[in-house]
Amino acid sequence: MRYISTRGSAPVLSFEDALLTGLARDGGLYVPEAIPRFSDKDLADMATMSYEDIAFKVMRPFIGDTFTDAEFTALIDKAYSGFNHTVRAPLVQLDQGHFLLELFHGPTLAFKDFAMQLIGQMFQAVLSRKGERVTIVGATSGDTGSAAIEAFRGLDNVDVFILFPHGRVSEVQRRQMTTPGESNVHALAMDGDFDDCQARLKDMFNDHDFRDAVRLAGVNSINWGRVLAQVVYYFTAALSMGACDRKVSFTVPTGNFGDIFAGYIAREMGLPIADLVVATNQNDILHRCLTTGAYHKGAVHASISPSMDIQVSSNFERALYFAYGQDSNAIKALMDDLAQGGFDVGDDVLRTLQDTYKSGRVSEEETSATIKEFYNNTGELLCPHSAIGVRVAQALRDRATPMITLATAHPAKFPDAVEAATGIRPPLPDHMADLFDRDERVTRISNDLEALKDIIKGGIAQ
Ligand SMILES: *Cc1c(COP(=O)(O)O)cnc(C)c1O
Repeated sequence: MRYISTRGSAPVLSFEDALLTGLARDGGLYVPEAIPRFSDKDLADMATMSYEDIAFKVMRPFIGDTFTDAEFTALIDKAYSGFNHTVRAPLVQLDQGHFLLELFHGPTLAFKDFAMQLIGQMFQAVLSRKGERVTIVGATSGDTGSAAIEAFRGLDNVDVFILFPHGRVSEVQRRQMTTPGESNVHALAMDGDFDDCQARLKDMFNDHDFRDAVRLAGVNSINWGRVLAQVVYYFTAALSMGACDRKVSFTVPTGNFGDIFAGYIAREMGLPIADLVVATNQNDILHRCLTTGAYHKGAVHASISPSMDIQVSSNFERALYFAYGQDSNAIKALMDDLAQGGFDVGDDVLRTLQDTYKSGRVSEEETSATIKEFYNNTGELLCPHSAIGVRVAQALRDRATPMITLATAHPAKFPDAVEAATGIRPPLPDHMADLFDRDERVTRISNDLEALKDIIKGGIAQ
């Protein structure tokens, strides 16, 4: 399998190189040249398999000869062995025909662990085989950073620097990033919002001298390896709902469009998905674009669902690439316009996008009310992001098709919002019970590219 850039002028790469590279050198995102398709028989065979076995089946066609079957099996087993639920991504019923897919049983309590734990294993295997070392720099609205640090802490061939917006992540998220003591972990609290962090990250990747000097590698949700790992749970969830023989729909709380785009790939691979529903908070650029075709940057407003406080949604570029019939020139032109503030898609592209994705937006008040309502009606404590998904799903679902809403984080990761809505403060699971007693280590920095590059150059192991 070969990988090409959405903007058409970066080198064509193998899976291994796309994994290590992250952002393409032309500023684009890597996508597979072709998407393999399962037959009905393949799906039927998968229906009774374990999470790990389905993961192998789904991802194997994408990894080429980067790993042998035996190596890949071992990496998958190791990646998910630290999850504290045997089926890894269990389903819970919320309402007649509406199910919650719990993606928070990994080590940092958010769905990011599904991809990051596997990527950590894959990076380590590839780098130790090549005898190389890389510098991972990531920008985070909270959960990517904690998942990345957890996956890469203490690994021999990786330094990891995580940029997060100072004062805009929850205390649990911050502590998950600042308390690991390993010397290869660097938490950087930057002045600004998540979009600023993401913009500085892109600047570093587009500075090719710096990029090569520190051997920069990216694990943000633009990394194809992350999208790929997330395709798996669409299969496990749909198949356990009997999806060989009927369609199911998914609603996905969305920020950077990585998780929902994985659902698109699953559908293209032959999984019978009816609707793919994008759910946003008040930072609703995606909902606005899917409604009107206009994609214009606005200011980010801090919300009680901070992992979705995003106005420039990186992976949406991949969705546009497919909506534009894989026309990389069109994507390049759109992204040039975005750098100037925004763009409008044409009517036929808007129709294609609307045929592919539905969408809804949820206010702060509605988010709290939904947490409260579902706690009262079902005893289920929803994190604010998951509540946004649940609210949009209830509004848009068609009662004849089962709806699965992705629960993207554990409620204990956002205890203030959950307590404000329900009066219940969700406790941290046992393995994290002492999080608030551990020492923190963090570097505070301004929103300044040169300062950032100096810190990274000074911090990497020589
Ligand atoms: C990252 C995150 C999201 C958004 O996921 P994207 O792939 O960026 O759309 C939603 N909820 C939680 C809890 C997250 O950590």
